[in-house]
Amino acid sequence: MVDVWIMENANSAQVALFFALFAVLALVETVAPARPRSPQPKKRWGTNLALTTVNIFVLSLFPITFFGAAIWAQAHGYGLLNLLSPPFEVLVVATLSTRGFISFFTHYLMHKVEFLWRLHRVHHFDTELDVTSTVRFHPLEFVAALVPGVAVVVAVGMSPWVLLLYELLDAGVTLFSHANIRLPRSVERVLRYVIVTPDLHRVHHSSWQPETDSNFSAVFPIWDVICGTFRTETRVPHATMELGLEVPRDERTDRFFWLLGSPFFRVESRARPAFPYDRPE
Ligand SMILES: [Zn+2]
Repeated sequence: MVDVWIMENANSAQVALFFALFAVLALVETVAPARPRSPQPKKRWGTNLALTTVNIFVLSLFPITFFGAAIWAQAHGYGLLNLLSPPFEVLVVATLSTRGFISFFTHYLMHKVEFLWRLHRVHHFDTELDVTSTVRFHPLEFVAALVPGVAVVVAVGMSPWVLLLYELLDAGVTLFSHANIRLPRSVERVLRYVIVTPDLHRVHHSSWQPETDSNFSAVFPIWDVICGTFRTETRVPHATMELGLEVPRDERTDRFFWLLGSPFFRVESRARPAFPYDRPE
C-alpha cells in the first residue's frame, strides 16, 4: 500500500513543491536580485518555462523512474541494501549519499563526454541565472541520465522512501541554487558545506571553463569536496562575473527550437555584446 502511494503521489508532490517554491523565490529575486537583470527578460523566461514544461511532460511519460526501480528491487530483494537489511540510519545515509553520487557523477560526465556535453550545454547557454534556469534542460539529457541511474538504484537497493526524500530535496535545493538571490555572507559560508547555495552554483555557471567545471553536485556538495571539484572563489566578483558560455552570447540562447536542435550541430561564434546587459534586444 505504502509503495503504491509513493508511485502515485511522488511526482505530484515534487511538482507541487517545485511551483510553490518557484513563486516564492521569483518574488525574492524581483525585490532583491543579487545581479543586474536584463531589461527585457520575457523571451528568455518564455523559452526557459517552455523547456521546463516539455521536460515535466516527457518525464511524466517515461516508463521508468528511480522510485519505480527502487520499489521493484525491494520487492524482489535485489541490490546490496535489500540483501543486507542494515539499520535505518545506515539505510538513510547510504541511500542519500549514493543518490547524490549518481547526480554528481552524471553531471561530471555531462561536462566531459562530447555528446553528453552537447545536450547539457543547453542549460549552460543561459547567459543569466534565475529560478527559470532550473529545469532549462534538453529533454534528451533526462533520458541519458535516467538509464544509468536506474541501474545504480537497483544495484545499491536504495530505499524508496529515502529516495522520495532526496527527490523533494532536489526540487527545493536546485530551485534555490539557481535563484538570483544573495544570502548574508555569514550564512553562505556555513550553508555551502551543507547544501548547494546560489553562490556555489553560480560558480558552475561562470563562462570561464575552470569555474564551469566545478561544483557538480545538485543537493549536497559533499562529493565535490571529496573529489576536489569544490570551488568557492571566483576570478571575477559574483555581481559582475560573466555567466553562460563564451559562445554563443546572442539571441540564439533564447530561441526554443534552436536550443532543441543545438546538440546536433556546431555552434558558431558571433560578435560579443557588452556586459552587463549582454543580450541584444
Ligand atoms: Zn553543468
